Amino acid sequence: MEIQQRLTAFLQTIPKSVQLVAVSKTKPDELILEAYKSGQRIFGENKVQDLAAKCPRLPNDIQWHFIGHLQRNKVKFVAPFVSMLHGIDSLKLLIEVNKQAVKNDRIIPCLLQFHIAEEATKFGLNMQEAEDLLGDERFQQLKNIRISGIMGMATYTSDENQIRREFRNLKQYFQLLKDRHFSDDLSFKEISMGMSGDYRIAIEEGSTMVRIGTKIFGSRN
Ligand SMILES: *Cc1c(COP(=O)(O)O)cnc(C)c1O
Repeated sequence: MEIQQRLTAFLQTIPKSVQLVAVSKTKPDELILEAYKSGQRIFGENKVQDLAAKCPRLPNDIQWHFIGHLQRNKVKFVAPFVSMLHGIDSLKLLIEVNKQAVKNDRIIPCLLQFHIAEEATKFGLNMQEAEDLLGDERFQQLKNIRISGIMGMATYTSDENQIRREFRNLKQYFQLLKDRHFSDDLSFKEISMGMSGDYRIAIEEGSTMVRIGTKIFGSRN
């Protein structure tokens, strides 16, 4: 009950054009089902093992987004069903995703993850690395992945100006890549940015997809 109310309340605070990825990591099936019953279909997980375990237990029209750092040797466990991979940060990883997508006879939508935060610990590409990846001839040969946009996480800080600056950078990267590499590709359209603490700023700066955990499911341990 509580989840349904939080979900409904949350959805009223964001534009209809912004997609909600309900981040259900560490949360049990019952809570996910509650959100599902109130209409939520996109859920995000950040551990391969948890995602692979939850998927077969829950309704099969759920769209599972993998939002964590993906290790190459684990791609095969999510490739059969995952709806979107948010954390692509190398060509090597993308090549493995493509290989597993071929095996499963499908195309896997992917987001390039950018490093926009100050913290050194967060994964992601810079603009030069993204350009190198997209310009590489090995990339051009990958037919079973689709680059649907980009993703990034802002610094964990109370400084709203800094968060805004970082999201603005991400939006700028998106626009540059769109102009240079995807100008006639309609599927390159997503900017996945914004979490429970910073989604309002992210939306003001052009987010098309927010990844929200705490504000829907409550805090995690
Ligand atoms: C956990 C997580 C989120 C959701 O975080 P909340 O602050 O609980 O909304 C979003 N994105 C990523 C990549 C995450 O790992």
